[in-house]
Amino acid sequence: MSLDRVADCLFCRIVAGEIPSTKVHEDDVVLAIRDIAPRAPTHILLMPRRHVASAADLTPGDGDLLGRIFGTAADIARSEGIAGPGYRVVTNVGAWGGQTVDHLHFHLMGGRAFEWPPG
Ligand code: 5GP
Ligand code: ZN
Repeated sequence: MSLDRVADCLFCRIVAGEIPSTKVHEDDVVLAIRDIAPRAPTHILLMPRRHVASAADLTPGDGDLLGRIFGTAADIARSEGIAGPGYRVVTNVGAWGGQTVDHLHFHLMGGRAFEWPPG
């Protein structure tokens, strides 16, 4: 599904400003906010403003969107001081992938070392 907005979507409501968040970056395409329950010293969520349910719904036409998201993630990693030692950008898809909010988002996590593969 790829609509501008989906009723009762938590992240659509955050994008709309109906639910407060700590914004790290905002432009016409991308919103980046601090995760409410951080699992790393730096834990930021990057999402498209428009509703996309998950990475499974992306198409070749979303290439620009993905470039904007990953470029913003790299900028934020530098400004957060986590770029040097390295960091992780991950998106979860579906229940077994660990997705709990069905609005595409990428976790930007850093400030500690991560294991591979993830648990
Ligand atoms: P997922 O489990 O879908 O990959 O990631 C969802 C993330 O959203 C979780 O890390 C969770 O802590 C975060 N989250 C859930 N509700 C809120 C909220 O209301 N505000 C913010 N900033 N993050 C949230
Ligand atoms: Zn949404």
